[in-house]
Order: sequence, then C-alpha cells, then structure tokens
Amino acid sequence: MSTIVAISTASGNSGIGIVRMSGKDCFNILKNIFRPARNGEITGYKIKYGKIVDKNNEIVDEVLVSYFIAPKSYTGENICEINSHGNNIVLKKILQLCIENGAILAEPGEFTKRAFLNGRIDLLQAESVIDVINAKSELERKAAVKGLDGELSKNIKKIKSKLLDVLSDIDASIDYPEYDIEERTNYEILNISKMLIKELELLENSFEKGKLLRDGVNVAIVGRPNAGKSSLLNKILKEERAIVTDIEGTTRDTIEEFVNINGIPFKIIDTAGIRESDNEIEKIGIDKSKKALEGADLIIAIFDSTKDLCKEDMDIINSIKNKNAIILLNKNDLQNKKIKKEDLIKYNKDVIETSIKTDEGIEELYKKMVELFNTKDISSENVSIITNVRHKELIKNSKQNIIDAVNAINSKMPIDIIAIYFKEAIQEMNKITGENVTEDIINEIFSKFCLGK
Ligand code: GDP
Repeated sequence: MSTIVAISTASGNSGIGIVRMSGKDCFNILKNIFRPARNGEITGYKIKYGKIVDKNNEIVDEVLVSYFIAPKSYTGENICEINSHGNNIVLKKILQLCIENGAILAEPGEFTKRAFLNGRIDLLQAESVIDVINAKSELERKAAVKGLDGELSKNIKKIKSKLLDVLSDIDASIDYPEYDIEERTNYEILNISKMLIKELELLENSFEKGKLLRDGVNVAIVGRPNAGKSSLLNKILKEERAIVTDIEGTTRDTIEEFVNINGIPFKIIDTAGIRESDNEIEKIGIDKSKKALEGADLIIAIFDSTKDLCKEDMDIINSIKNKNAIILLNKNDLQNKKIKKEDLIKYNKDVIETSIKTDEGIEELYKKMVELFNTKDISSENVSIITNVRHKELIKNSKQNIIDAVNAINSKMPIDIIAIYFKEAIQEMNKITGENVTEDIINEIFSKFCLGK
C-alpha cells in the first residue's frame, strides 16, 4: 500500500499542528525532509526534536516527530507524526514536502480505513471514531467510546456466537437424522431464539435513545405572543440571541440552538406565536412553528398567568395533548393572576409555575426536561447503545430472520429451511463488524470522515 499523508489538526492558528504519514516508506520520506538535533536509529514510540527543511536546506519549522512502528500503530503500518507550530502555511508546506518525496494525499478517513483493512479494529469500532469526533454531549461521547473500545463489538460477537451454536446444532440434526435429535433441538432452538430476539430488540430500541444523544432532543417553545417564549430561550441559552420585545408578534422566525442540560443535548426551537395572522412575514413564522411542533420530541408550552385563557391557548393545549409536553404558568412574580395551576393540571401534563424574570421554577423545568428523557438507563455503564442507523438496520434484519426461523419451527417446516434463516441472521451480524461487507459500503462509511483521521 502507498504511503499517505494528511494534516490531522483543524485549520486555524494554534499551539501545535500535526502532519501524519502512514505506510512502509514514511520513515524514508521523513529522512529527506527532517534534520533531527541528534542522529541515531529510528526506534518506535520515541519523539525526536529537530527541523523540517526543504530541498534547499532552508528551515521550514522546528518540530517534534513521533514514530510508531508496524504493526503497533493506529493504522497497523509505520506511522510518523510531525508536530509543528499550528499554522496553516507551515502545515501545508510540510504536507507538500512529504508529497514531493513520495507520499500521496490521504483521502478522508483513510488512516482509520487502513486500521480496519489491516485488521486492527473492526468496522463498528472504526465507525465509532467518527462518533467520538462528532460527539455533541457527554452522554454521546460515552456511548461512542464504548463502541471504540470494542465493547459493543463484543456484545455483537456474543450474539453471533450463540447463533453459530444454534446453526451447528441444526447441522448436526441434518447430518445425523437417524438419531432423531430434531425434537430436542427444536425445543432448545426456540428457547435460545426467544432470548436472542429479546437481546436484539434491546439493542434496536437503544437506537431511539442513541438518536436523541446524537441529534439532540428537539424542543419547541410555544405560547401566545408575549407569554415569555423568547425570554425563556434567552434564559436557557444564557445570552441575548432572540429579540425580546413588548410588541406582540415580533418574534418572526424560528431560532434553533443546542444546549446541554445534564449531559443531554437539547435543540431548542423558539417559534413565533401560534395564532391566526394577516401579516405575511408573521404567517411564515407561524407555519414554521406548526412544523416545529410536529417534529418536536418535547414541547414547552408557556402561558401568561396574568391573562385569561383564550381560544389560542386552548388551541395550544389541544395541539400538545398526545405529546411530551411541559406547561409553564409564567409571570408568577406579577399580581392579579387570571389562570391558576389547577386550571391547567387537568390536562395531564406537568405544570410548573415560573417567573422567567426572577428564575422561579427554572431549575424545576430543567429537572423535568432531563427526567422526561430518562437517560439514567442509557448512561449506565452496562448498557450498549446503538447510535448508528446502519447498525440498527442490520440488527433489525437479524432479529427478523430469527423471528422467521421461530415461525418456521412452529409450523414444522423442514430443518434445512430453518437453517437458512439462521444463516441470514448471522450474515447480518457479520456486516456490523465488517465481515462480508462490500467495498462500496466500506468506501461510503469512510467518506464521512474528516481529512487526516
Ligand atoms: P414572547 O412573545 O412569547 O417571545 O414573549 P417575550 O419573551 O418577548 O416576553 C414578553 C414580555 O414579557 C417581555 O417584556 C418580557 O420581559 C416579559 N416577561 C417574560 N417573562 C416574564 C416573567 O416571568 N415575569 C415578568 N414580569 N415579565 C416577563
């Protein structure tokens, strides 16, 4: 395989930048461009100090170079990492020198792809690398690291080995029909299959929660104009992004922001008030808020406690009936209340009396938001979470094959037909860890990586 090179750090000025090379020629290429302060043999896992020079011996930068010798490296090949100052002109110059001396520019994700192709990690672990890099919250990071660590792979392999046991039992009863072991085998297979279906279902269901970790919980803030939506958004974001005003209907567009509450990413969508309007711009805002309501995982409905409940409020109450929602009875700091908590509690939602002005009830709101997305089970150390849609689909297919096998057993189908279902179930599990996947799928997966990883 050729020797590849890439700038592995993000662009922009920083203390350190890294150019990484991998492949059997990387040490030879380095020799042409690196003048170490002290000569001597290259030994692995050491760092050498020196200077990168161009072909005229002009110094490009002062650097530290670390060496990793195959197969004990990220890619499984020889690797060297050149740590220069974090400046794009410097980094590009070093990259160019590596290329002039025989390296080729790496494709996105090619280092990790090589780690996979060289058998150092499986496909699931490789995909977890992107998840770690893109993690938006502490919980998401935790889930991704578990994948990287190989824990999820182990889980998948355990399930696969149980399927292989089942298949070898079936094969035995096909090969030795005279022993009439079919009855017993069927009974055992049914039991194991039911257990496997349950395990796969748990993994499949963890995807929905995993999705919340990855994409964030979509929260829509709704309420009549002036109820306090923008003020709440600002409070949550702790900065003045949305326009707060006393004139009705001026929050004309939707605003989206990510916030992290107790490790859960919430994507807060502030919407223009839901109400009938003749004003064109406001209409667009209202359409958008209706869309936001439809796609929301959680709705925070705000009511102004100093105003009587009107038709618009009732519309809001109706629209959240079958949804995850928290009701805020806002402006509790003001006198002359028109709505009481009891008026809203009957709609079977959590009702919190708040004052965005004095912070009353805000902590309680955060607590409720976190509670509703009950992440204790997924943040626990022992649960595997699927965060990747490809894995989820394969798990679903595998489960379906086992269900089909169970149905086939129950309807007394020939055992070699049953074997086909189990073989399919195993194939699907194999695809998760990267056995039996086509080159197209591999290329597609790695194309989502960033350069230099
Ligand atoms: P929106 O139209 O629903 O986005 O409402 P805003 O957030 O723009 O708030 C409308 C007005 O109510 C502003 O003047 C806010 O300062 C005020 N307001 C919001 N929350 C409270 C509160 O809890 N108490 C009091 N006294 N005023 C509030």
